[in-house]
Amino acid sequence: MYTLEENNHKSLIDSLKNRGIIDDEEVYETMLQVDRGKYIKEKPYVDTPVYISHGVTISSPHMHALSLKRLMNVLKPGSRAIDVGSGSGYLTVCMAMRTKVLENKDSFVIGLERVKDVANYSIENIKRDKPELLHLENFKIIHKNIYQVNEEEKEKLGLFDAIHVGASASELPEILIDLLAENGKLIIPLDEGYTQVLYEITKKNGKIIKDRLFDVCFVTLKKN
Ligand code: SAH
Repeated sequence: MYTLEENNHKSLIDSLKNRGIIDDEEVYETMLQVDRGKYIKEKPYVDTPVYISHGVTISSPHMHALSLKRLMNVLKPGSRAIDVGSGSGYLTVCMAMRTKVLENKDSFVIGLERVKDVANYSIENIKRDKPELLHLENFKIIHKNIYQVNEEEKEKLGLFDAIHVGASASELPEILIDLLAENGKLIIPLDEGYTQVLYEITKKNGKIIKDRLFDVCFVTLKKN
């Protein structure tokens, strides 16, 4: 028997491990470093999405774990990563911990968030959890809609080894393909009829390979 409701962060992460959801030591170590209680006040240690505001939720811990697992081999010290629809900032900070942005100046982690209040909320969360991140040149939370990134901004952002999208798109946005580095990996939920499916997209020799993973439930990636 296991319980789904825990009362501290370590117990939450241990319960994900006991349930077999975290079966990767690197995901375990990464998530252990980022206390969900600093990113959401209500029910932080329950394996459920929680409403933040503006129609936005922090994803469930098991979803964060599954997405991180798929990205582990492209998230290393020195990697460049972007979290599109960064919401609470939880996963963005996991990316920062895993790539060691504090120690490795080649690592570069960006959270992109469409709603200004939500971007500010994530900055407050990070201030509470890991304020040192907010002084770095290679870590940023940016208030921006991914569909509104122009050519100049795209050039400035550069290419990414790891792209995570925390909201479901009606079709694969062209901009994300452009931002994906050779051998990079993109994790994105895509609408399929009445459901959504998580896809893993890789770029090999300039070609796009699409792997269909499993059904999921995310908020919508808004066009404007
Ligand atoms: N991984 C985040 C998920 C937050 S929900 C977390 O666990 O906290 C998804 C987020 O995507 C919302 O905050 C929403 O505002 C944002 N979003 C939706 N459409 C977007 C777009 N076009 N560009 C950037 N962010 C977007």
